Amino acid sequence: MSPQAVTILGSTGSIGKSTLDVIKQHPQRFSVFAITANTQVELLLEQITLFSPRYAVMASTRCAEQLDKNVRELGLETQVLAGADGLATVSSHDAVDVVMAAIVGAAGLLPTLAAAKAGKKILLANKEALVMAGQLFMDTVRDHDAELLPIDSEHNAVFQCIHGSRSDSLSDLGINKITLTASGGPFRQTPIAQLRDVTPEMACAHPNWSMGRKISVDSASMLNKGLELIEACWLFSASPEQVDTVIHPQSIVHALVSYIDGSVLAHLGNPDMRVPIAAAMSWPKRITSGVKSLDLVELAQLDFSKPDLERFPCLQLSMDAMTAGGVATVVLNAANEVAVEAFLQKKIRFTDIPILLEELLGKSVNKNLASIGAVLEQDQLARAAAQQWVFDRSGAGL
Ligand code: NDP
Repeated sequence: MSPQAVTILGSTGSIGKSTLDVIKQHPQRFSVFAITANTQVELLLEQITLFSPRYAVMASTRCAEQLDKNVRELGLETQVLAGADGLATVSSHDAVDVVMAAIVGAAGLLPTLAAAKAGKKILLANKEALVMAGQLFMDTVRDHDAELLPIDSEHNAVFQCIHGSRSDSLSDLGINKITLTASGGPFRQTPIAQLRDVTPEMACAHPNWSMGRKISVDSASMLNKGLELIEACWLFSASPEQVDTVIHPQSIVHALVSYIDGSVLAHLGNPDMRVPIAAAMSWPKRITSGVKSLDLVELAQLDFSKPDLERFPCLQLSMDAMTAGGVATVVLNAANEVAVEAFLQKKIRFTDIPILLEELLGKSVNKNLASIGAVLEQDQLARAAAQQWVFDRSGAGL
């Protein structure tokens, strides 16, 4: 059997690198067809020399020109493409079997949709695509016979606990609740009064997971769990009431599925994204991931508690946005991306993030978004409003 050809959107990121690590362990099963990045030319060049993909894409045209020059100087055969067209080409190419969607943020939506329209097997890490355009995205997957496998550790865990079946409704499967676990991030026990002074470095120092900076801040605010609740509703056709969250600081149990007979199936594993990546890449078979097995005796203790909504207001805001639907989740995502970037650049405080989200969500006029064009228009409007908010706030001084 010839190896499956894989495109990795966002190969220079945390998920992208873990994916390449799994592929490296299984050269007879997978080959790298294309890799992509935004601006990290040197790292993409290094990946090209290691994996010899047919294509490499840089979202930034200026960086693509630089990469192309470097590739030609080294006499490598990889073809360099640029921008949105380049990303769509490698997501939908006839020769591609599997697309790992691991670009961070709204930038991942269009290339992931291109993969869905081309009927690919999509490994979805880019949760923002579903938060922005859940219904349209799931319709596209269905209409084009694409296959969607979740990479987020919690959703991958749910997927495994329901034996991969998503064709039936939760009630047909006898499921009455899905529980996503959350570590609580670096500020689980920080006195609430101190949260206004936390730095980007503190927010990015996650106790259990090594991740990109945006998702690390989202984990610290628990907006990440909010995005995941929305993602779970779309992936598993669940209502917001059927999905809940429990704090589990050890990040060993990733999700639980409760059945009507009282059975609760849980998925456990060490917190390393190569576990869900390997499970999705080989599903329904199993392959090694390079992650050591779990030692329960060494762990000794697993703790669970209810999330504190006063400490983590972003969680409630996300649940409200999912219930409202339509424009609300687009605004939530766009405002959050602007807020996180502003926090990382020290223009606003950590505690400004939920204030900005609440203000923009309060002002948004809800309506259904019937096309991707309408989603992108609302995304741009929300970003402009959020940037103005940041400008006003940071102009007033921190
Ligand atoms: P990183 O920030 O580590 O990597 C992001 C990747 O996207 C990089 O390759 C980056 O390129 C590329 N990128 C950034 N902006 C653009 C753009 N405008 N156009 C095209 N490409 C772009 O992110 P993570 O790997 O942490 O996360 C990726 C996705 O996976 C996110 O949606 C996140 O929520 C999700 N996820 C991540 C988990 C994790 O453990 N990290 C766990 C579960 C889900 P460059 O390097 O050049 O900037």
